Amino acid sequence: MRYFWSTLSSDLENKGTVSRGIPLPSAEPRVRSWAAYSQGLMNPAWQKKGQPAELCPKCSKPVLLQNSKRGLFVGCSGYPKCDYTEPFGSGPVRKEPLVLGADPGSGLDVLLMVGPYGPYVQLGETMPDAKQKPKRAAWPKGVPLPGDASDEALKLALKALSLPRQLGMHPGSGKPVEANVGRFGPYIKHDGSFKSIPKSDSVYDITLDRAVELLAEQKGKSGGGRALGEHPEDKRSVTVREGRFGPYVRHGSTNATIPASLNPEKITLDDALELLAAKAAKGGSAKGAARSSGRAVAAKTGRTRKAAGGPAARPRAKSKKR
Ligand SMILES: [Zn+2]
Repeated sequence: MRYFWSTLSSDLENKGTVSRGIPLPSAEPRVRSWAAYSQGLMNPAWQKKGQPAELCPKCSKPVLLQNSKRGLFVGCSGYPKCDYTEPFGSGPVRKEPLVLGADPGSGLDVLLMVGPYGPYVQLGETMPDAKQKPKRAAWPKGVPLPGDASDEALKLALKALSLPRQLGMHPGSGKPVEANVGRFGPYIKHDGSFKSIPKSDSVYDITLDRAVELLAEQKGKSGGGRALGEHPEDKRSVTVREGRFGPYVRHGSTNATIPASLNPEKITLDDALELLAAKAAKGGSAKGAARSSGRAVAAKTGRTRKAAGGPAARPRAKSKKR
């Protein structure tokens, strides 16, 4: 049996496994709107690890909430063998943003929305022909989603939108130090290098002094190359290096070439993790990197098997099916 909550959280953390969507919890009535989804996230029953995932009525494999150009929809994870799909959201399939209130600075509406990587807040509506995308920030991890607008929810959203924070100039390099939250959690960025912010510190009030201290620790651990940050699975350093065949990223013994479409000077930790995941999926040297921790082994083999099997890859459920 595949469980909703554990699968959801691991999928959100490992972008490599979530190219197709996120599972929905089994519920009555079935979750078919953004409002039901966001209200359900507050429900303690959903958060219990034992909450089963909703299964496809045609083939009994888990269904996934997926994103397409036309909006969100629910489809079977057994695709293309199984063609079950259903619309998600009312009327014509589209996302339903929740207006939390107005931003006192700009007067723009603060919207709460759900994307393929989880819930996020956005300042103002997305205009089809605007040159700039509206400002967005991930909804704080671990905070239940509000079902309705409230002062508290608006405050949290504005706090999230206040990122990235400019902490000041690094005393060593004279270059800016910034604190922000990415798909893999809060981090500090300085001179193209990323360092995750430990749980003991907050991205909202970390000081320049503390950030400089954390960056110094990072430099000590990277062992050559320019450190981008820590791999979320095993906390080992991910670095950018210059090789005989051009620039590449390294994590443990896995090396992945940086494609010409990416600037090695500007590559982010997220970009690097994607390249490394793609490399591991192709049967690169995932072994060496995975050996360091049991959790990493499970995560890696799960991902490798899935990616290698392509869209028809069997869900983990198979081994326990009776
Ligand atoms: Zn199906």
